[in-house]
Amino acid sequence: DVEPKVVLVTGATSGIGLAIAKRFARAGHQLVINGLESVTDAQAAIAEIAGNGPCPPFYFEADLADGAESFALANAAIGKFGRVDVLVNNAGIQKVAAVEDLPPQDWERIIAVSLDSAYHTIRAALPGMKERGTGRIVNIASAHGLRASPYKSAYVATKHAVVGLTKTVALEVAEMGITVNAICPGYVWTPLVAAQVTDQAKVHGMSEEDVIRKVMLAPQPTKKFVQPEEVAELALYLASDMARSITGAAISIDGGWTAK
Ligand code: NAD
Repeated sequence: DVEPKVVLVTGATSGIGLAIAKRFARAGHQLVINGLESVTDAQAAIAEIAGNGPCPPFYFEADLADGAESFALANAAIGKFGRVDVLVNNAGIQKVAAVEDLPPQDWERIIAVSLDSAYHTIRAALPGMKERGTGRIVNIASAHGLRASPYKSAYVATKHAVVGLTKTVALEVAEMGITVNAICPGYVWTPLVAAQVTDQAKVHGMSEEDVIRKVMLAPQPTKKFVQPEEVAELALYLASDMARSITGAAISIDGGWTAK
């Protein structure tokens, strides 16, 4: 009963991005998805998304560490479907190291993938949204867009910057029917995090349960991981018409982390 929207989700082959793509597919929308993988390696994710809705997703391989490829990704969506109605900037990477030990190439790549790529997809998608007088931009930031943790300098800097970019663009388009928001999740249960639990249990000589409660979820008052599907539901809501008054917001979904 809803008009299908063209929804571009970056980093949609895994974790939160995959859950978002599946949720929008289930709502009947046309997905344009991206990941670092070749189209062959992305087949499982593509099939999963396709299985959730009526429109097969369009996969576009782009290394978002490269600004030109990020710009090309959004333009590919526009070239194929004529528009991007919903842009979800989700791709992100991190590295844990003391600031002086963080190699410059890692600093640059982290900032390029999460921050610069969002700038490039936004500058490609926004003119069409302005013309149509409607659009939604959802940037997946983090609790680390609002709070810091040691040894995550590039990641924390990037996520704070994503929140700043979100607010600025929101103000620029506030009267044009376009909203721009950031979602700030705490620890989300993704394959990446699951693997960390096993590794940390070995390193600390602790049970996996203790690693989760005492190490990983120490800052998360609920002591529970956020599930990717919860983030996806929030993204879908922000893309809805009823969310038209929510803009320039950094919305926490973090089990109480930033209440402290
Ligand atoms: P993930 O590692 O499971 O998935 C990352 C996705 O990004 C993959 O599809 C990968 O192919 C893609 N990607 C990575 N580098 C890329 C590049 N250079 N070009 C194109 N695609 C690239 O990660 P996730 O846990 O689902 O995280 C997704 C987003 O959510 C990130 O921005 C992350 O910072 C944020 N986040 C995650 C958590 C968490 O606990 N998992 C918490 C807060 C915020």
